[in-house]
Parts: sequence; C-alpha cells; structure tokens
Amino acid sequence: MSEPEKSSGDDEPRDFIREIVAEDLRTGRRTSVVTRFPPEPNGYLHVGHAKSICLNFGIARQFGGRCHLRFDDTNPTKEEQEYIDAIEEDVRWLGFDWGEHLYHASDYFERLYEWAVGLVRAGKAYVDDLSADEIREHRGTLTEPGRNSPFRDRSVEENLDLLARMRKGEFPDGSRVLRAKIDMAAGNINLRDPVMYRILHAAHPRTGDAWCLYPTYDYAHGQSDAIEGITHSICTLEFEDHRPLYDWFVENLPVPSRPRQYEFARLRLSYTILSKRFLLRLVNEGRVRGWDDPRMPTLSGIRRRGFPPEALRQFAEMIGVARRESTVDYAALEHCVRDVLNRTAERRMAVLRPLKVVLTNYPEGQVEEFEAVNNPEDPAAGTRRVPFSRELLIEREDFMEDPPKKFFRLAPGREVRLRSAYLVTCREVVKDAGGEVVELRCTYDPATRGGSAPDGRSPKATLHWVSAPHSIAAEVRLYDHLFSRPDPGAEGDILDDLSPRSEEVLTGCRLEPALAGAPVGARVQFERLGYFCVDRDSSADRLVFNRIVTLRDTWARVKAREK
Ligand code: ATP
Ligand code: MG
Repeated sequence: MSEPEKSSGDDEPRDFIREIVAEDLRTGRRTSVVTRFPPEPNGYLHVGHAKSICLNFGIARQFGGRCHLRFDDTNPTKEEQEYIDAIEEDVRWLGFDWGEHLYHASDYFERLYEWAVGLVRAGKAYVDDLSADEIREHRGTLTEPGRNSPFRDRSVEENLDLLARMRKGEFPDGSRVLRAKIDMAAGNINLRDPVMYRILHAAHPRTGDAWCLYPTYDYAHGQSDAIEGITHSICTLEFEDHRPLYDWFVENLPVPSRPRQYEFARLRLSYTILSKRFLLRLVNEGRVRGWDDPRMPTLSGIRRRGFPPEALRQFAEMIGVARRESTVDYAALEHCVRDVLNRTAERRMAVLRPLKVVLTNYPEGQVEEFEAVNNPEDPAAGTRRVPFSRELLIEREDFMEDPPKKFFRLAPGREVRLRSAYLVTCREVVKDAGGEVVELRCTYDPATRGGSAPDGRSPKATLHWVSAPHSIAAEVRLYDHLFSRPDPGAEGDILDDLSPRSEEVLTGCRLEPALAGAPVGARVQFERLGYFCVDRDSSADRLVFNRIVTLRDTWARVKAREK
C-alpha cells in the first residue's frame, strides 16, 4: 500500500492541531478543511491575535482549505465600525486573504433566533425573570451544585409568548433572559442552564435597531461555525470548559454541519499585556499616543513602529502551538524582526546627537564621494554615494575627553576610522563658556582613503558620520518596552509599571542625504544604531523616524549561553 498523501512538506510547521487536521483528512473524517478567525470588534488586534491568525489562515493554506474572517459582533454596546475596519486592515497587512469569506455573527441573528424558538418548543430553553445577580447566586460553585430558577418550569406556551415579546422590545434591559435548560447540577458550570439571549436596547453597527435581543458568545459562536461549515474551530484554552456546551448546542439544534472545537495556549509575551480591554484603557487614559502608538503591542502599533509582517509570521512559526501555557520572551519577537531586517533593510548613516568635527588639514570647499554598500547581506541592493567634506558630524557619545580603560572610540590624541572614509586623529577639543564640548578639531590621513592604512595600522573603533553641510534634519523617536518589568502588574498596580523610558524623542538628528524623500513606512538600518522606520508624522521638510529595534540581539545571546 502506498503511503497516504502527506499534506505538509518537511519545511511546513507541525503542531498538535496540524496533526489532528492531517489525521482527519487521512482517515476521511473530513474531506476539506475550513477554519475561521473570529475577532470581536471591540478593540484593535494585538500580537496574540497574530498567533491565532497565522494558525487559522496557515492551516487553511497548508491543507488546501479556506479560512473565514468572521466578526463576532454580538455585543453592540462595545463594538464599533472603526474596529471592524482596523481588523480587516491588520489581517491583510499580516499577509492573509479571506477572499469572499467575510462573515458576521449578526448575519445569523434571524436563524439563531429561530433555532432558539425551536429549543423552547422542545422544552430545552426557558425565559428566566431572575436578575443577573440572582442567576449568579443560583449557579452554585465548583463544589456545590446550582439551584433551579423558580421560572425553570414555565410552560412552552408561556416561554414562546415571553420570548416573542422580548424580541418586540416590551421589556427593559436586564429584566429577562433566555436560558438553555440543561442541568443545574452539572459538574461543568457552563452547563448549568447558560444564558442564550439578553435584552439590550442598543443599536448595532450592522443590524441597527432591528434587534433588542442579542445572543451570547456561547450560543452564537458554535452555531456560526456550523452555518459556515467550519471543520476545525480553533480557540484559546479559556474556552476548553465551554466545549461541552459548544457540543450540546450542535447536538440539540438542526445545524447544517458539525464543527469541532480545539484549544491551544494563548500567547503571552514578556514586558507586554495582551488584552484588548487593558489596551483600550491605555488609549482612553491618554497614556499612549493611540491604538497605533509604536509602543503598543497592537498590530497597528507594531506596523507603525516598523515591524515587517514577515517577522510576525516567522515569530508565530518559531513559537509554535501547544496546550501548555508559557510566556514568550519579547526578545524572541525582536530576534525575528532583526532577522528579516538584516536581510532586507538598506544601511544608512545617521547621527542622533551630533558633535561637530572639523578636519583642519582637509581643503576648504572640497567634497569627495565615497561608495558605500547598501546591504552587505544583499549584493543586489547595490551601492550609494556618500559625500564627505571638511565639516563632519559624529555621535556625541563616540567621543570622551577623559576615556575610561575600555572606551576605544575617539579621545584627545587618538585615531579612529570613519566608516568607508578616512582615519582621523583628534587634535584639539573646543568648549563653550559652560565647559561643554562643542567641536573637535581633527586631522585626517590622506593615505587612508576608503578606511585602510597602507602601513597596516588599524584603529580599534570605526565610527559612523555625516557631512555637516550635506546632512538633512530629522526627528528620531527611540522606543523601548512599554513596561519596565517583564511581568507587568505582578506586584501592585499595573499602571505603576509603565516605563518612563518607553519613548525618547530626539530632535536635531542629522542624516546622510540619501535619506531625503524616504517614504512613510520605509525601513533602514542606521549603522551601529539599529533599525528605523519613517513615521507618518513626517512632513516634506522634516523626516520622523521610529526606532524599530536596536542591533543587539539579546535573545540570540541567551540561546547561545543555553547551549
Ligand atoms: P482579548 O483578551 O485581548 O480581548 P479576546 O480573546 O477577547 O482577546 P477575540 O476578538 O475574541 O479577543 O479573539 C479572536 C481570536 O483570537 C480568538 O479565537 C482568540 O482565542 C484569539 N486570541 C486572542 N488573544 C490571543 C492570544 N493572546 N494568543 C492567541 N490567540 C489569541
Ligand atoms: Mg473574546
């Protein structure tokens, strides 16, 4: 017998969910694969959602199936069109396409309601007049069974009448709910007569005022899956205890297909909070510039910061999918970003905190151009010409008047290399009245053109620089973790853990002229400094850059040490 056809090649990701999918196809339990990504449009997507998107769309792609984008829009009080638009943009940006398969739970409101009426007719659902607090109180605990509601045994006729009037809008919010009649003594609390509908006199972004009765997540979700023919309904572990209820609805309703739910561990990331509700709070309280603040773990924030979508897909693949809860080191995500940018970002020179250098023996008015490699990792990226003149700018922190032992960069009397240009020696330090260093007077060695000396001497340091008269102005925003500790909120108020150093804005930065006109979103490496991205706050006469990530890969170091 020939080997069953393997759907996944050797370089395809593998995990327990993909194993299940492959097995279902192999045994013929399923003949096709349909997954879905089901966000609730009550906020912007974050990197945790990226894991779920890559998993659902990735499985569909890998096994020749399809993945739906479905808005789980069952709570109109928290949902907005702005979020719907942002979510679509984010999923596309990540590189996935749902084609014509865009759906909304609200598309199914009528059908869900009919099915609920059917459950009432079958004696499997009832209208309850208890308040939310009373329902909670009757529910029991993990160790004690719940108690039946006094309204549990209403006649079918009375239930049908009340449900119809609930729909018509005869009753105020919170006065009545529809509950499934399952078992108030069930060990699984989710089966203790869960609420299916609540009264909410609120306009919905899509259905407007058509409804004042809205289904709960538990009732709407599985049935939406069944309507769409979802085969593998993949969600995070907090829904594991809801699975018996998911199955109960599917078994007790005339649904057109039988989806199955599988759970995996949600992504947790150090130095970050992945919760839409909390991120909304940061936005509302003005603690960040908005949902797309470059420090936010939202996909729009990460995009604005300059993370390439490819890095997020790579990250999702690297962390894999499992059922064990764990926190991923933020440095692992940065590692993926560096990996992509190292291959794709062109190199440029930029000086963030400029210090003037005058080459006293370089002819006034002379300009030379040096050929600089755009990307040593990618010969196809070619070269560019960088102007050099008598007046240069270097990084203030690359000079020390009184250097400690391990400082090898520029100091009085010392020679260093200027990248792709010449060796220069510091001869004199000029200070202002306050004693601050404002200028270095140096000499260059004309025999070292291109950066190497004929006599073989080689300085320990190579500095980046720009030619002062040719350089262009920029603002550069340096970003760091939003939180100052890896486990924000672990001790005390989480807001106290917001890092005061998460953003530093530098004005007066100077860039090599090749950066003039760089478009919003362009990503470059500033030599020796890190990767940077042109921010949308840029204008024609002033570029604004965000630091995407520094060059130092702490994650790779940690991994190397582990070996
Ligand atoms: P949040 O807790 O941030 O509000 P949510 O789970 O309420 O997230 P949904 O819009 O319901 O957000 O999520 C859509 C899908 O994304 C769900 O299937 C959910 O399981 C998944 N998801 C949400 N957060 C994560 C995460 N941190 N890691 C992996 N998947 C996630
Ligand atoms: Mg949710």
